[in-house]
Amino acid sequence: MRYAVLSDVHANLEALRAVLDDCRGEVDAVLCLGDLVGYGADPIPCVELLARDAAALVAGNHEHGVTGRLSLGWFNRFARAAAQWTAERLDDDHRAYLGSLPLTAVVADATLVHASPDRPGQWEYLTSAEDGFRAFAAFPTRLCFVGHSHQPGYWSLGSAGRRRRMGAVDLALENGRRYLVNVGSVGQPRDRDPRACYAIWDAEARRIAMRRVSYDVAAAQGKIIAAGLPRFLADRLRSGT
Ligand code: ZN
Repeated sequence: MRYAVLSDVHANLEALRAVLDDCRGEVDAVLCLGDLVGYGADPIPCVELLARDAAALVAGNHEHGVTGRLSLGWFNRFARAAAQWTAERLDDDHRAYLGSLPLTAVVADATLVHASPDRPGQWEYLTSAEDGFRAFAAFPTRLCFVGHSHQPGYWSLGSAGRRRRMGAVDLALENGRRYLVNVGSVGQPRDRDPRACYAIWDAEARRIAMRRVSYDVAAAQGKIIAAGLPRFLADRLRSGT
C-alpha cells in the first residue's frame, strides 16, 4: 500500500486540491493528521473533500477549538479569530463530524496523531530533538506520523543510535529502527518554503518521500482577505512562515 499523509490543511482549498492532484494515481489511500480547518477561508469544502477521500483522519487542536472541546483562550489572537469565524460557518453536521474524530488512529504499522503521541489531547509541540525522542515511549508501532508544528522532519531510534533531521527529506526505513515523522503542513507551511508539504509512505518499499507542491497562493490569500480574516494569515502564505 502507498499512502499520502497530509496534515494541517487549515482550510486552504487551493493547497489541498494541488496535493490531491499531485498524488492521484500514485497512492492507494489518503491519511490525514488533523487541523483541516482554521486560518483559511474554505473550511467546509476542505472538510467535505477529506471526509470523502481520507481513509483515516484524526482530530487536531483546531477541530477541538471550533467544536468547543478546547478553550479558544488556548489559541493566539490570529488563530482565535479564525476559529471564531470558522465556528460561525459550520452547521450541526460538520460540527458533529469534526467533534467525532479520534485523537489517534493506527494504520498498518503507523500511529497517526496530530500533536504528540504522549497525551495527544494536551497538544504539545514536538520541536526539539529531545521532545521527539521522549515521545517514542508513547506509541507502540514502528512508525508514528505527526503534524502540528508545520515543520517537516523526522526522529529515529535504533541500536545504532539516534537520528534527527529537519526538512522535507526522503528516508528509507531500516530494519530495527523506529521513526517519528512530521509531514509538514499542506495549507500553511512555516519552514520558509511556501509550497504545500506532505508525505508519500510506501509501506512495501519501506520508503517515505516528502513532497513540495506549488499552488495558487494568490487565490488562497484573496479569499482570506475577502472573508475579513486577519491579513497576517494571508501574508504568511506568501513567505511560508
Ligand atoms: Zn496546524
